Amino acid sequence: MSWFSSKKLCSHCHITKTYQKFEGEVTCPQCETNILISREGIRICPVDQTKMVKEDYKGIILDRCSQCNGVWLDSDELSSMQELAKKDSDFATGMVLGMAVG
Ligand SMILES: [Zn+2]
Ligand SMILES: [Zn+2]
Repeated sequence: MSWFSSKKLCSHCHITKTYQKFEGEVTCPQCETNILISREGIRICPVDQTKMVKEDYKGIILDRCSQCNGVWLDSDELSSMQELAKKDSDFATGMVLGMAVG
């Protein structure tokens, strides 16, 4: 019997079984994303001053404005997104429109 080959209940939601660990605790991918999102500050849309909503897109956390539907990214996030966009053409149609990083 191996400890490492059995899935364990996520120590955050106690629902999802996972092999994954995050910061030394058993953490499912969803909870890891939530933790990362909760650590980031809320951003304000530069266009209409609406509080933006955090979204997770394939592991990249981005801020989307519900008012103008704009997506705002840090420069390192932007380069990750551009990498994804090269590989994923669906992605390019949906998201790049709002990528008005100034
Ligand atoms: Zn969880
Ligand atoms: Zn906006």
